[in-house]
Amino acid sequence: MIFISAGHHKNDPGAVANGYIERDLTKEARNIIVQNLDLKNVIQDKDFETNSQYQRRIKPGSGSVVFDIHFNSGSPTATGTECYVNQKDFLNKNSLSYKMADEICKITPKILGIRNRGVKSDNQSQHSRIGILNLGSGVSVLWEICFISSVLDMQKYVEKKKEVLREISNVLEKYDALQ
Ligand SMILES: [Zn+2]
Repeated sequence: MIFISAGHHKNDPGAVANGYIERDLTKEARNIIVQNLDLKNVIQDKDFETNSQYQRRIKPGSGSVVFDIHFNSGSPTATGTECYVNQKDFLNKNSLSYKMADEICKITPKILGIRNRGVKSDNQSQHSRIGILNLGSGVSVLWEICFISSVLDMQKYVEKKKEVLREISNVLEKYDALQ
């Protein structure tokens, strides 16, 4: 089973820059990915749900993939894609979470032509621990697609989003089937 969620929700816009709202971008990305997936294998967040409501609703078992989508924000020159996994998965480079995150960090720059900022541990994030990465699923990855605050990142994303999101759908299905 693939559990996919758009970071942020109705009352939490996330980052806002360059005329973009993170919440709207993550919703769109989730919807495009879901269109490429086998629906009977997918559970997704509802747009009115807070992150904690969604996390309480889902019960991802060890054989499932949890995937949460965000956009990064920083200075106008900050650029690139990155993925977060939990601390345990980060320490085990053979974990499926680490491998899937690494794959996404390599595919995205290839298609969008932006930097690979690499796989990071959730304790290197602004939060010490990211709840959705610690629900006990076999694979859990949080993807920061690119920087909403970078005009160039966003130009490239808008141009190539269908292509990159199709590739990410394939990666999700691959890791779901591996377990
Ligand atoms: Zn976010």
